[in-house]
Amino acid sequence: MEAMPISDKSRRTGDTTDKSRRTGDTTDKSRRTGDTTDNSNSPIDVLVIGGGPAGLMAADQLSAAGLRVRLAERMGSCGRKFLIAGKGGLNLTHAEPEPAFSSRYFSEADAVRKWLLDFSPTDLRDFAASLGIETMVGTSGRVFPADLKAAPMMRRWLQKLRNVGVQFHYHHRCVGLSKTGGDDATWSAQFQIDDGVETIELQARAVVLALGGGSWAKLGSDGSWQTWLQALGIQLEPLQPSNCGFEVNWSHAMHKHFGAPIKPVGARMSERPSAEAKRGELMISEYGIEGGLIYALSHALRTQITAHGSANLVLDLAPDQSMEQLQLGFERARAGLSMSEKLKRVAHLSAAKSALVFENWPQRSSADHAALADRVKNLIISFKQARNIDEAISTAGGICISGLDVKLMASLHPGLFFAGEMLNWDAPTGGYLLSACFASGHCAAMGVQEYLNNANV
Ligand SMILES: Cc1cc2nc3c(=O)[nH]c(=O)nc-3n(C[C@H](O)[C@H](O)[C@H](O)COP(=O)(O)OP(=O)(O)OC[C@H]3O[C@@H](n4cnc5c(N)ncnc54)[C@H](O)[C@@H]3O)c2cc1C
Repeated sequence: MEAMPISDKSRRTGDTTDKSRRTGDTTDKSRRTGDTTDNSNSPIDVLVIGGGPAGLMAADQLSAAGLRVRLAERMGSCGRKFLIAGKGGLNLTHAEPEPAFSSRYFSEADAVRKWLLDFSPTDLRDFAASLGIETMVGTSGRVFPADLKAAPMMRRWLQKLRNVGVQFHYHHRCVGLSKTGGDDATWSAQFQIDDGVETIELQARAVVLALGGGSWAKLGSDGSWQTWLQALGIQLEPLQPSNCGFEVNWSHAMHKHFGAPIKPVGARMSERPSAEAKRGELMISEYGIEGGLIYALSHALRTQITAHGSANLVLDLAPDQSMEQLQLGFERARAGLSMSEKLKRVAHLSAAKSALVFENWPQRSSADHAALADRVKNLIISFKQARNIDEAISTAGGICISGLDVKLMASLHPGLFFAGEMLNWDAPTGGYLLSACFASGHCAAMGVQEYLNNANV
């Protein structure tokens, strides 16, 4: 395939002017940040925007296919969210087999399954191994780097990409896209440099957007792309918090339990005893409830809040005892024991768990043992809203997959591809988030290759 040289406009506004040299690779700053911009009028095939796992995977595959790739990133370095994930051990993927694996992606299971066919969890582990990062499967089936660190993998990956000639443009914040020409269209991306002090344009035959979701904005992904992509006619659902805490208006009595763990605990979305219950850990926080168990239920809670204005979560504070065992234990307890004592000695509840019972049962009666056992086994907490998006582990919503072809190219805009968390899919934690980001980056890269081959320019 013949590569198209950079256009005059991009030369004017891109990397060969004084201005771009200031923002490109000749300054001290760019040397500091590892910016590898080439000042020559080098031909450019693909512009990948966003240097998280999805964008880096697209750049990796495209450069391996011999294409000239530029990667623009608004921050001074790549993969900041990936590196934060490393603080929790970096759960790269999961050993769960298909079809269970892709069923984790709710309504987008079919779409994600297609991406995973070409870049499976095993491929992801092989890819890590190719960078010298061995992985291991934990007892829960979660897959981690053997040393539980993210930085070595990111460091080696970036080095590999630099070695194969991917040009990195740091401190480039994309603020819009436009297209010129017909069949052999050229995409122009507008960037604010150095926090908006200057604006430049980079051009390419195809663009992969991998701009992330909308949480933890300080790491780079702030969801501001929603505005300019909507202006291009791209269909999207507003970003929403996922794998997040939910708000509860606690009474003063709960304040001393902020930060206290609630474990073990069962949780289900319905009062029906037969409803599927998950077991895990929660934490009482100043704003409400957080922790792994509620993150796992965040999709279901959010769906109920959207449909009904609120969602009820049913907690089982003594998951190792049956209702009957508890009731009998309360009845047999020594006369005169306070309710707190009964909860502690019979149900083995911590002070924080007991406080939850009291909080949710203002008209309590310690003589009604059946009711007490029921409160312990079926404690209902009502939520009206999720915690704000910036604190969420991930975001749902984003670019509608139905508006893209199977290789993630916008149906309305040939040559424009999407990957990663900015796509409208949702999944629980457990390695499913990164798996979909890597696999969609891989899928978009395959789409770009097909597109450029067919365009034959
Ligand atoms: C605390 C925490 C822990 C996590 N742990 C795990 C885990 O263990 N396992 C797991 O599977 N997932 C985990 N995740 C989720 C996972 O990190 C994300 O789903 C993943 O990083 C998303 O990848 P991405 O490439 O789509 O987006 P990001 O990683 O968000 O990367 C997008 C990039 O685009 C850049 N960008 C954004 N807008 C612009 C713009 N306008 N112009 C130029 N550049 C832009 C950003 O600066 C960023 O570098 C965790 C998330 C958090 C917050």
